[in-house]
Amino acid sequence: MLKTPEQFEDSLRDLNPTVYIKGNKVQSVVDEPLLRPGVNAISVTYEYALLPEYAETMTAISHVTGKKVNRLLHINTNQDDLLKKLEMTRLLCRETGCAQRYLCHDALNALYENTNNTDLKYGTDYHVKFLNYLERVQDEDLTMCVAMTDAKGDRTKRPHEQHNPDLYLRMVSRSEDGIVVRGIKAIVTGAPYTHEILVLPTRNMTFQDKDYAISFAVPIDAPGVEMVSRQAGRPKESGAPLTSQYGQATAQILFDDVFIPWDRVFLAGEWDFAGSLTESFATHHRVSCIGARAGLGDILIGATASMAEANGLDPQKTGHVREKIADLIKFVESFYACGVTSAVFGNETNAGNFKPDPVYANIGKLLQGTHIYDMFRIVHDTTGGILVSSPYPEDMEIPNLGEKLNEYLQGNQDISADYRISIARLLEDITASYQGGWYSAISISGGGSPEATRLEIMRKYDIEERKSLIEKIAGV
Ligand SMILES: Cc1cc2nc3c(=O)[nH]c(=O)nc-3n(C[C@H](O)[C@H](O)[C@H](O)COP(=O)(O)OP(=O)(O)OC[C@H]3O[C@@H](n4cnc5c(N)ncnc54)[C@H](O)[C@@H]3O)c2cc1C
Repeated sequence: MLKTPEQFEDSLRDLNPTVYIKGNKVQSVVDEPLLRPGVNAISVTYEYALLPEYAETMTAISHVTGKKVNRLLHINTNQDDLLKKLEMTRLLCRETGCAQRYLCHDALNALYENTNNTDLKYGTDYHVKFLNYLERVQDEDLTMCVAMTDAKGDRTKRPHEQHNPDLYLRMVSRSEDGIVVRGIKAIVTGAPYTHEILVLPTRNMTFQDKDYAISFAVPIDAPGVEMVSRQAGRPKESGAPLTSQYGQATAQILFDDVFIPWDRVFLAGEWDFAGSLTESFATHHRVSCIGARAGLGDILIGATASMAEANGLDPQKTGHVREKIADLIKFVESFYACGVTSAVFGNETNAGNFKPDPVYANIGKLLQGTHIYDMFRIVHDTTGGILVSSPYPEDMEIPNLGEKLNEYLQGNQDISADYRISIARLLEDITASYQGGWYSAISISGGGSPEATRLEIMRKYDIEERKSLIEKIAGV
């Protein structure tokens, strides 16, 4: 059943994860001010799913249970599902900046495919176990964080070659009842304020790495699980209109010999399926990154055009402003178009669910991750110095002084200084504050580095077919 935002928060109160921020143990995740913007962002995914106007985008009928579920927990059954999930991500992120919960969709779809394929080769029963888990997740409308990225140590070495065997999360023992895991997952979005952790491998493996080829689900407050997190957004900062409300925390999750029962294990030693699970998750997730940054792009386009007007410049008539805003639109809509194309050309997997076309998913992610800097450049150039010099809201309230500031900081005489300053604060918040740096970093690294996407493009693009075309034309 779909939860309300209030039910989501209450369900978090039933859990007791071990979370530290800045050296302090968090007593209650929901009541911790440093995490509030993160809880708010996930809550929007619950709120929107209940709004009639968003029902088609935000919900779907599960082919597993036949019940209505949040689309973020849905297994794609056709290309339209892929498209709607992209649209949904953009919708959520144009309000929140980053709604985080789409990671659930990406991991569930990857596990649906990979558990099926592992069973086909090894005769294991991961798929049935996964379906049972999926049913519970859909019924209880849960949120999972996705822990894929390991500490990785020396990047040139495989897991088993590292100087410390725990630099990739590993299985230290297995028994009739389950497995025991040890190590760390190094960057996990939203971890403190979710119900469960879905663990996936972060790379392809060899036979010698088989103890690292593991995937499982574990409650966020399972014995032996501890996390060190960071604040979400810029909580309680008066000059942060977006990120004081909505933000994203990341956490390092430590697993100190954590026991995982077999019914929650989806890969345990089948080393040759680690790479395909990583690849499947990355393909889905790169489309989420596209949708998320398109939502952020919507905010930037609207705010930059408004800022130009507040400065007295008409974005349609002032040549260089028109050019900059057209370029901003070009960047956003070109990576979004790749997301759309990846859905339209999406394919059915062996397991029967649908996966985006990997070439377009990766091109879109590459464009998004590299053009974020061009997008921010346009914002900074168009806004001018007020971007980082507008008075704090409290200073605008100083008697007499505040009124004078309101008078002198006006640009276009038809637009109030208050409006101009508010837009400048929003743009500073997203592009030039601590969160501005954060948005750049998540855009380039989140979902995989540019090099990782280029490798995928080169692996999946049919260059041989293009070469044969040239041979025909050139007659060689
Ligand atoms: C805000 C944020 C949120 C995130 N959320 C999550 C999450 O929820 N779950 C999750 O699992 N992960 C998450 N990530 C992690 C993200 O997926 C990784 O940052 C990304 O995959 C890159 O991995 P890395 O950070 O270890 O960098 P690296 O892989 O170390 O990359 C750093 C540089 O080294 C290069 N490099 C790496 N390996 C090699 C090699 N062998 N040879 C040559 N060059 C190499 C890369 O190309 C890059 O230029 C998040 C990241 C960010 C920034």
